Amino acid sequence: MTKRAVFLDRDGTLIVDHGYIHKPSQVELLPGVIEALIKLKTFGFELIIISNQSGIGRGFFTKKEVDHVNQHLYNLLISHKIKLTGIYYCPHHPDDKCTCRKPEPGLLLQALSEHKIDAKKSYFVGDKLTDVQAAIAAGVQPVLLSRDNVSTHTIPIIIVDSLLKFTKVIKQEDF
Ligand SMILES: [Mg+2]
Repeated sequence: MTKRAVFLDRDGTLIVDHGYIHKPSQVELLPGVIEALIKLKTFGFELIIISNQSGIGRGFFTKKEVDHVNQHLYNLLISHKIKLTGIYYCPHHPDDKCTCRKPEPGLLLQALSEHKIDAKKSYFVGDKLTDVQAAIAAGVQPVLLSRDNVSTHTIPIIIVDSLLKFTKVIKQEDF
């Protein structure tokens, strides 16, 4: 049986985007995230974070600080019985022209391969157009968190205003 995943952007999707988060005390879950993640687990999805952390490449903070923040988030979710399958992040500066910084699909492709996940049965939820672009490039269904009506795309995108809304949209789908 193939596995499917909901890939998740971190800042602005799971936690409040305070901008260049580098301390565990800045981790603030967005409303409804716990409930949403529990539902997604119940639906049988692996949960994997895919995040750009260019603050490392820009010299604002270290990899160790990012790992610390991620570990805190991981533990916070564990305390709600939600176990993430993986946390992937790109440490590079935009000028580095790497293949892992979203909109590039590098991290998604790596996670799909490492966890043997079926891209077509998976989603990537993010709050930026670069998340959508990465999802499309990796063959994963894009989900954009937005309050605006941005339905100008030729590729079908699910647009909802929260992660919890997303779980209500896919609930009706036949897995
Ligand atoms: Mg984001």
